Amino acid sequence: MRLWDDSDIPTHRLMVEKVHQHEALAGIQLAHNGLHVSNRFTRSPTLSPSGGTGGWIDPVQSRAMSKRDIRELRRWHRDAAIRAKQAGYDIVYVYAAHNMSIFMHFLQSRYNQRGDEYGGSLQNRVRLLREVLEETKEAIGDSCAVALRFAVDEAEDTELRFDKEGRGVVEMLADLPDLWDVNISGWENDSLSSRFGRCGHQERYISFVKQITAKPVVGVGRFTSPDEMVAQIKRGTLDFIGAARPSIADPFLPKKIEQGRIEEIRECIGCNICTTGDHFAVPIRCTQNPAMGEEFRKGWHPENIAPAASQDRILIIGAGPAGLECALALAKRGYHVVLAERGEELGGRVLLESRLPGLSEWRWVIDHRIYMLRQKPNVQIYAQSELILQDVLDYGFERVVVATGAHWRTDCLGRSIHMPVTISEHARIVSVDDILRNVEVGGRVIIYDDDYYYMANVIAEKLCANGCAVTYVTSAGEVAPYTAATLEQDRIIERLLQLEVEIICGNTVTSVDTASVEISCRYSGRRSNLDCDVFIPVTERIPRQEIMAIAATPSALGEHGIKSIEAIGDCHAPATIAAAVYAGHLYARQLDNPLDQRYGFSRENYQPQVLVPPRAR
Ligand code: ADP
Ligand code: SF4
Repeated sequence: MRLWDDSDIPTHRLMVEKVHQHEALAGIQLAHNGLHVSNRFTRSPTLSPSGGTGGWIDPVQSRAMSKRDIRELRRWHRDAAIRAKQAGYDIVYVYAAHNMSIFMHFLQSRYNQRGDEYGGSLQNRVRLLREVLEETKEAIGDSCAVALRFAVDEAEDTELRFDKEGRGVVEMLADLPDLWDVNISGWENDSLSSRFGRCGHQERYISFVKQITAKPVVGVGRFTSPDEMVAQIKRGTLDFIGAARPSIADPFLPKKIEQGRIEEIRECIGCNICTTGDHFAVPIRCTQNPAMGEEFRKGWHPENIAPAASQDRILIIGAGPAGLECALALAKRGYHVVLAERGEELGGRVLLESRLPGLSEWRWVIDHRIYMLRQKPNVQIYAQSELILQDVLDYGFERVVVATGAHWRTDCLGRSIHMPVTISEHARIVSVDDILRNVEVGGRVIIYDDDYYYMANVIAEKLCANGCAVTYVTSAGEVAPYTAATLEQDRIIERLLQLEVEIICGNTVTSVDTASVEISCRYSGRRSNLDCDVFIPVTERIPRQEIMAIAATPSALGEHGIKSIEAIGDCHAPATIAAAVYAGHLYARQLDNPLDQRYGFSRENYQPQVLVPPRAR
């Protein structure tokens, strides 16, 4: 959001009033992003302490700020703080974190090489942050708390470390802010995915802060467990618990703790699908909370759902994330639900994938839903119950939901290969499904990644741990490009290199033989042969749609009293776990209650108004 001038205030006020209606305080973080951004929208040169390129790929350099620029920046910040107060905010943040803020750039000697009183010694580099804090307090401190969001460490070998200059900054500003909000920089370290770090991982960096300041301290660390929250308070690390991802996954987290409904918390699994929304400039999405980002557009409340609008009984086939979520949301509505799963255990792909290295917390997607479903008297669950089409017809449920998932291809076809690949009869091809079922694999393994997310690299990790020599070949120009959006890509590459995985980018597969695989460079067409005992293609999945064949003959359905049959999740269109959960939820919301908007959601259309462009010159 913006607070550039007074015309922005009413939008903020609207939001603040809603927050206040819930007896909560409203806070705002004011940000100037310095050279972290490229000003693609305004086309103005970006500003920085002493010029140079920033974090993005754009071929633009920032402009070194003059003293006048610094005065202007202070004025902008002060004015924005006053507008924030006018909008009704209770807490106004000064932001110096994530490597994304001009005030942090002034602190960092790699960006700040100024020769004046704003550069050089730490005392000088802190000057701007101190001035802004003082001016913000002076402007609005009578009624607003002024918080400082500060990264005490960059989790890499720079001066801004918690035991070096990070500590120095806290000592210099100790009691100036009303609240210290401390974390580590950059965003990928702050919002570490569960694959690479556990809940509370920031404690060792931030625990010193409370020893220095008398002001309250808040921190984050993907806290989902109330025990861990209490432990951090009791150990004297924090006064307040910050929870961003945990409250995306479950906005009612504090309420559930307050009411002792701990078992009902939908715990964040640390997958970072939420950060992809920011990366791709679309509304936020969450694996655990399918209502996230749909509150306005679809009118979805994360906890409440409309009661059933018919007596229809619903048969759901398949208890993966789509089937489980569908069953739970329908059960909440009050429908009578029967869930049939062919496996011994419920959970589908999540059950299997959560056994891969680093993904154990993903199990919470199914644990939460299985627990909640077991509390529902209107749900019957049958494991070890593989259904065929005839069963579906014989049972005669009014509604049938097919959530039977998908299986991985083994023929290499996918995003980048569209023509059949020559595969020798004796080649040892192992599918992703085999790996998920722990089929023995040894020797020289080639993993071909045309999927671009976690599966290929996580299998590489698993097989390295089993002693295989792994080569990772991808059609992409870089390793696992989608994981840039989940903030994991650098760590994935680092891990593959640590495990001595050979990485070959920009190549597709042309043939698979008994002891070798031929690959072809996408750019030059040059072919090369790689020794290989086992080949694992990670390309696409094929939906399991056998039962859906009946949908083509509606009369047959009618004869058996079936009003509708619908495929959801991976058996409809294979995608992420988040997409499967969403698909299950969407079905449940829409049953007997179709969304009436043309697009399935409301659009945020601007009202027409007469805009007067500046006079043409
Ligand atoms: P999604 O991500 O769409 O939920 P999954 O692959 O995770 O898909 O889950 C599909 C589930 O459906 C699996 O647990 C699988 O065992 C189950 N399944 C597949 N076919 C049948 C069937 N014919 N009858 C019952 N369960 C089935
Ligand atoms: Fe947590 Fe994943 Fe939801 Fe983000 S998308 S809040 S990481 S469960």
